[in-house]
Amino acid sequence: MQTFDLIILGGGPGGYPLAARMARKGWKVAIVDNDSEFGGTCLNWGCIPTKALLASSRALHLLKSAADFGLSCENPGFDWSKVLERKNKITAQLRQGIIKMLEKSGVTLFRGLGKLYKNRVVKIAGHEEAIQGNKICLAVGSVPAAPAVFPANRSIFWTSNEALHTAEVPQSLLVVGGGVIGIELGQVFAEFGSKVCVVEMMPQILPGLDNATAKRLLPVFKKSGMEIMTGKKVDSLTEKNGRALAVIDGTEREFDKVLIAVGRRVNMSFMHETDVQIETERGLLKTGDDYQTSEPGVFAIGDAIKGPMLAHKASYDAMILAAQWQGEKVAADYSLVPSCVYTHPEIAWVGQSEDALKEKGIEYKTGRSLFSANGKALTAGEGDGQIKTLIGNDGKLLGAVIWGPEASNIINEATMMAQFGIDNHAFSRMIHPHPTLSEAFMEAVENVSGEGVHG
Ligand code: NAD
Repeated sequence: MQTFDLIILGGGPGGYPLAARMARKGWKVAIVDNDSEFGGTCLNWGCIPTKALLASSRALHLLKSAADFGLSCENPGFDWSKVLERKNKITAQLRQGIIKMLEKSGVTLFRGLGKLYKNRVVKIAGHEEAIQGNKICLAVGSVPAAPAVFPANRSIFWTSNEALHTAEVPQSLLVVGGGVIGIELGQVFAEFGSKVCVVEMMPQILPGLDNATAKRLLPVFKKSGMEIMTGKKVDSLTEKNGRALAVIDGTEREFDKVLIAVGRRVNMSFMHETDVQIETERGLLKTGDDYQTSEPGVFAIGDAIKGPMLAHKASYDAMILAAQWQGEKVAADYSLVPSCVYTHPEIAWVGQSEDALKEKGIEYKTGRSLFSANGKALTAGEGDGQIKTLIGNDGKLLGAVIWGPEASNIINEATMMAQFGIDNHAFSRMIHPHPTLSEAFMEAVENVSGEGVHG
């Protein structure tokens, strides 16, 4: 039996950086993935394909708004197959890069579903000989949750997997769940002409976002063509003559397709038929500060364990675990994991929300700035949006929320300020180039008022 220092199950943004890091340190590393091309959900079924579609929808939106820039563009249109082709080309290029990087680092790649057995033995579908690791890391990620109450016919009742690969744009689309997936993909299909209806059972869309911002964004998203219902339930979903019949809050409506976007669950396919029992807690693999599961020598990172199900959190786990294995005394801290929604406008937040601060009775002051007063935003035709900073009594940043142009990039200023404990006076002296969108963040740190003081 071939043996390795480390076998990683899953080649996504948790698994592949860990593999490369440890291989470069001289470990004999194998990585196993059943998606024959590696890259995980992020690259094949999530972040990257969604962002490619959002970029096409944004470009179409800009063409439709040509007159706002003094330009003319008659009848802007699109060819969906070419939109998909562009997306597929981008993901293929990135996958190739990951595979080359792993091979160059000396990692052995196995393609096929890996299953874990006792004594850290892994059997891989399509491979006769099993392999054994001194250590195993489960970087198995997550799959869309599709509760059994929803019909299973995936040609009508999509998860994000089917939505990202659909050969045509449906005329009407019901989105169940107003989380990140529902809002991002809802906006893509709305821009390409679908009549989109998002039904969210909670009182606000985008769980985790502060309530005031979520409320403020409702009309913005409605303007972009989505009907959004909050605090409403889809009572039933059935198939009728190749279409979907939904009862929403007592009212019957028909749709061409339904996107079920009600969260994700751990991908447990590595455990099928296994003789190993790994302890779980609320559906996640239970791990200690050392990322070890209940099975000695078996570790887990990313979506499969506690913390937000985000690609950058999985990569962070990989970095911390690698540091621990190299003898550093570090533990994961998820208090500053930025959240980003890549819609138009983008939304990003980090640290504590205003709602959480109020609930905990923590004193804070708010700082604000509007993109309508930012030169770079206005010249780009992106004057909608604002930044809110939450500053503690010691001047340190407790949290920030941004909606508007490049929010996902500007949020890094907030993360840095909080992570390195820079107070608002010191931060205000950092020179920001003019004109830039990042100046708006500096202003939101400078413009701290008594407003919002709470204690
Ligand atoms: P989510 O947890 O973000 O949102 C699911 C939403 O569905 C929640 O608001 C929930 O209240 C609602 N819901 C649940 N059951 C419902 C029902 N029966 N009827 C109506 N509403 C219902 O989950 P998601 O959007 O599926 O995303 C899954 C994961 O993927 C999340 O962890 C997310 O952070 C991650 N993700 C991140 C990005 C990004 O970073 N931009 C993009 C996509 C996905």
